[in-house]
Amino acid sequence: MAVAWLAEVDVTDVDTVGGKAASLGELTDADLPVPSGFVVTADTYRRFIESADIATELFETVDVDHEDSQALKHAHERAHELIMDTDMPERVREEIYRAYTELGSVEEPFVAVRSSATAEDLPDASFAGQQETFLNVQSEMLIDRVKECWASLFSQRAIYYRNRQGFAHADVDIAVVVQEMVDADKSGVMFTSHPSTGADEVIIEAAWGLGEAVVSGSVSPDNYTMDKQSASVESVEIADKKTMMIKQAASGETVETEVPSSDREARVLSDTELEQLVKLGRQVESHYQSPQDVEWAIKNGSIYMLQSRPITTIDSEKMDTHDESSEETDGVIVDGLGASPGVASGEAQIITELNQIDQVSNGDIIVTEMTMPDMVPAMKRASGIVTDEGGMTSHASIISRELGVPAVVGTETATQRLTSGKAVTIDGEKGTVRPGAQPTDEQREPIEEARPTTPVKPMTATRVKVNVSIPEAAERAAATGADGVGLLRTEHMVLSLGKTPSKFIADHGERAYIDELVEGIQAAAEEFYPRPVRVRTLDAPTDEFRQLEGGEDEPREHNPMLGYRGIRRSLDNPKLFNHELQAFRRVYQMGYDNVELMLPLVNDAEDVRQARHHMEEAGIDTDRRSWGIMIETPAAALEIESIADTGVDFVSFGTNDLTQYTLAVDRNNEHVADRFDELHPSILSLIETTIETCRELDIDTSICGQAGSRTEMVNFLIEAGISSISANIDAVRDVQHEVKRVEQRLILDTVR
Ligand code: PEP
Ligand code: MG
Repeated sequence: MAVAWLAEVDVTDVDTVGGKAASLGELTDADLPVPSGFVVTADTYRRFIESADIATELFETVDVDHEDSQALKHAHERAHELIMDTDMPERVREEIYRAYTELGSVEEPFVAVRSSATAEDLPDASFAGQQETFLNVQSEMLIDRVKECWASLFSQRAIYYRNRQGFAHADVDIAVVVQEMVDADKSGVMFTSHPSTGADEVIIEAAWGLGEAVVSGSVSPDNYTMDKQSASVESVEIADKKTMMIKQAASGETVETEVPSSDREARVLSDTELEQLVKLGRQVESHYQSPQDVEWAIKNGSIYMLQSRPITTIDSEKMDTHDESSEETDGVIVDGLGASPGVASGEAQIITELNQIDQVSNGDIIVTEMTMPDMVPAMKRASGIVTDEGGMTSHASIISRELGVPAVVGTETATQRLTSGKAVTIDGEKGTVRPGAQPTDEQREPIEEARPTTPVKPMTATRVKVNVSIPEAAERAAATGADGVGLLRTEHMVLSLGKTPSKFIADHGERAYIDELVEGIQAAAEEFYPRPVRVRTLDAPTDEFRQLEGGEDEPREHNPMLGYRGIRRSLDNPKLFNHELQAFRRVYQMGYDNVELMLPLVNDAEDVRQARHHMEEAGIDTDRRSWGIMIETPAAALEIESIADTGVDFVSFGTNDLTQYTLAVDRNNEHVADRFDELHPSILSLIETTIETCRELDIDTSICGQAGSRTEMVNFLIEAGISSISANIDAVRDVQHEVKRVEQRLILDTVR
């Protein structure tokens, strides 16, 4: 059988009918008002590509580098062509038509044709919106539309995501739901629990006409907050609904049209309709035993449920405590990780292409999937940053902290849920984005004025330093009163050149490249002189450098975090490494004897010995200069005794990488961000034993990962006997006080 009726399928059929159809089948079984329909099963798609012999070519076509946009485009076009140019087998065509004629009350019903991918809408892989939907389809277009849905499995976005997430293309099948259209008077979505806090509230969004406008975000809907138990209205926000989607009577086409002026600011849903929706919402939630995101429509007073998906955005920690925090989380549009503190309001600017960054005006809030090095100038103009992806140690987080710009990262859906030109307020501490401008005292103040809460710099035995990634931040960093720079990341200097080192050298020569490095290092060394500045040699991940001019020559890697970066890359390319070392030599010659040299991502003594050899060859006197290594891998921590023999003066814990490599948690992957636990006992144990060994061997210890800015980590490190701590600019003052507090406690403990 090529098709199955929705009433015949349920969640156990998800492999053959996909998440969407299985869910509609479940809703039908639960006696909820679902428009009638059938599903063209995933097996039918599979047989289609196999019997026509296009499967192999299809999967080979889409096996491309997902960061290469041209390759993605070609892959998508070829895959689409392969599917559309292949005839539908006669038997399948007949079966689909037979089901279609049995569908509705009228002879040629309009149907919605939607893809239902077998990896879509599953609780842990909410890829909603990646596949096609066709509305108001009638018989003559039906077969083509089904094929279009199959082809949508190979949209550029879908190929990108599967390649990036490591899903094999051959493992994902696609079914197609054909369902009678509800020519809706009004429609929208309903969250059966609060989508970010999980609070016992039903949130309903509603607009005039067909639901596509609400789901795609092209219209701002009314927003109703309802008490889930009593179904009473808690709050109503009426939006100005300028446009709506309707079906054109003659062609059946879906078109956007203006909402009649009398309806624009009118409330879409009556209290009775809201009450009915809440009841249905409770029924759906109790059927699935989990909060749901439901699409609904109303036609002639009857409610229909079009789709239901689990809500994947609820933060379980917030769910437990929502009673105390509900006031703070009300009205949140999206939430993520609070990556750079401060509150900021401004117009959202959604940036999907680099050439759009000019649209960012002073004071705007940049909303993007992930920030890129070329965005730094725009980030400086912005009053806030919101990203879909990334964790606390991603590019967006590091740079926005240094710029003192509030940021919320890893929201997953901000680029879909926010609208360009609309004012929003972000809270970079709580990680929330709310509608409208909510000015606060704290907004956009330079960080050293906004902080610290405790103004005087305390004297501490443990030195408290600061991390700097962009030389422009050096002045602000020095103003914190830090005892030096614990980490200056040279890769950010290179990223801001806009070209890979090789490309830059090819265009401007070796001398110019060395000059750029010297200038960046000198800026920080001068600002802090005579306080020490620990400069790290290049740690260039291929995925970040691919975004630069010349980036097409970067090696293509399945897992750049485990690949060609850090010292391994420098040792592999001694010529390029030598240019960096020449830059160090020059700053030493200029008299900056406060510069220290640090090597990233070493694993063992052999890595360090080879690097030292190159340093000597470049004319750096390694006995005279202070130099050391990052401890970023469990291997480096476990090998500390033999590494000590190489002559290092210091080690510095890079907990961003040490955490990801110890726990196997990608630091840039928002799906596992909640597992990125820098205080995990395994990491603390690696740090503690390394400090112990280094104390015995008289090697200086420090931390320059993000965790050094956390109170709990500071406590632990001081007790373990670390020599210095390097924190983010915004955290320096608080860390100084925390260090002081712990030191005093330790002194008191010894005299008691
Ligand atoms: C670290 O890994 O903790 C670190 C400071 O280096 P980076 O974040 O640049 O990888
Ligand atoms: Mg690192």
